Amino acid sequence: MTEKKQLLCALPKIDEALASLADRTVSIPSRLVKLAVRDCINAERQRILKGDEECISLSPQQWNKRLLEAITLKNQMNLRRVINGTGVVIHTNLGRSVLSPPIVNALQQAGAHYTNLEFDLTTGKRGSRYSLVEEIICDLTGAEAALVVNNNAAAVLLSLDTLANGKEVIVSRGQLVEIGGSFRIPDVIAKSGAHLIEVGSTNRTHLVDYEKGINNETALLLKVHTSNFRVIGFTSEVSAEELVALAQVKGLPVMEDLGSGCLVDLSPFGLPREPTVQQIVKAGVDVITFSGDKLLGGPQAGLIVGKKTFIDHIKRNPLNRALRIDKFTLASLEAVLRNYYDLDLALTRIPTLRMLTQPVDLIKKRARRLMRRVQSTARPICSMSLLPTMSRVGGGAMPEHGLSSWAVAFKPAHIPVSAMEKELRRLSTPIIGRIENDSLFLDMRTVDDHEIPELAASLLTFLRGCEPS
Ligand SMILES: *Cc1c(COP(=O)(O)O)cnc(C)c1O
Repeated sequence: MTEKKQLLCALPKIDEALASLADRTVSIPSRLVKLAVRDCINAERQRILKGDEECISLSPQQWNKRLLEAITLKNQMNLRRVINGTGVVIHTNLGRSVLSPPIVNALQQAGAHYTNLEFDLTTGKRGSRYSLVEEIICDLTGAEAALVVNNNAAAVLLSLDTLANGKEVIVSRGQLVEIGGSFRIPDVIAKSGAHLIEVGSTNRTHLVDYEKGINNETALLLKVHTSNFRVIGFTSEVSAEELVALAQVKGLPVMEDLGSGCLVDLSPFGLPREPTVQQIVKAGVDVITFSGDKLLGGPQAGLIVGKKTFIDHIKRNPLNRALRIDKFTLASLEAVLRNYYDLDLALTRIPTLRMLTQPVDLIKKRARRLMRRVQSTARPICSMSLLPTMSRVGGGAMPEHGLSSWAVAFKPAHIPVSAMEKELRRLSTPIIGRIENDSLFLDMRTVDDHEIPELAASLLTFLRGCEPS
């Protein structure tokens, strides 16, 4: 018999495997158990047939262990909490902004009970879901009107479709960016049915370039925040004020895709000065779009604020219905926005802002706390040190700006650091770190104080698993 045939014959039979695992899987739906066992054995069969060198014949005990792991994995939520040790505060792959307990409470209320989502409690008649947050957004930004859709990409698409479908949109060449996750300004403009007119050059665009681009077909002047991309050196951009002045003369609206949508100036905390939404409203921009889950620190959403005539027009676009937000977004967005009535409170109560502005000593203290908890177990398995590092804002905001921070760095003695990184991702509460100089860095800026016991417990599970038995 060939080696392949031998391996195939040694594969467990599904029914026998199920019978031998029955005692240990009583609390798990039998259908799920069966599917997990079948898939696990089939996957091994495929590997053997492909000639995978790593396939070896396993004992029944080894098979049971492997199958139980597969069953456990299939029986847990696919979307799970992780511990963010990357130091990237607005980490798109890890869900961007996290919400504070009172905001989670608002979410829970909206989920567990009936709500006045579209019911006017004063008149007893049908209400509009948008009215629940519009006034608050206007209070905070100074805008005349506001609307919220599914995300900022949707906000840009809907606004362009309303204001410029079939007409021309003028954009600076320096702002025709791709944001990531396949959001490209030229593509979104094309999808909205508008025609893109590029003006200026990659590094320099002047007011006269916009002026020359305007003709009878022009519907809109668009300004885009370049987010994760920077043009540096010999550059020039036209300010919102200048663009508004030109547009007024020509009788055209101006739209700005702000991307991050910051409501607080973070420059007193050592972060770069970003235009706030309030400033852009004040500059007279007619339609402004920004994300709910970047610097705003809320749920995924796309906020559209600006002049009432344009916002009303956007609200009536049938596409709006397809992009509408649900009650969970509304509940958490309203709760987050309410924090901004007091900007000092917003900085401490909104986790994204708190993480961005926390004093570096606090981060160092937290790193020390973690080290104390795992030090003695770690010693023979990996060296551990407290090292200065740089965190990032993330979410395409302030791309070239690092934030001074502290990390606990692990250097495993007997396994490659990449293996440690992988093992930490496989824990029941996965820990996501970053590899730097052959060490695994856990940046303590993005770990909350209350996560330390859990992070330590997870690390101990890993470390104990490395101990020679
Ligand atoms: C992030 C970003 C977007 C996309 O926003 P989403 O909320 O992720 O859809 C669009 N434009 C700019 C300038 C951005 O920074």
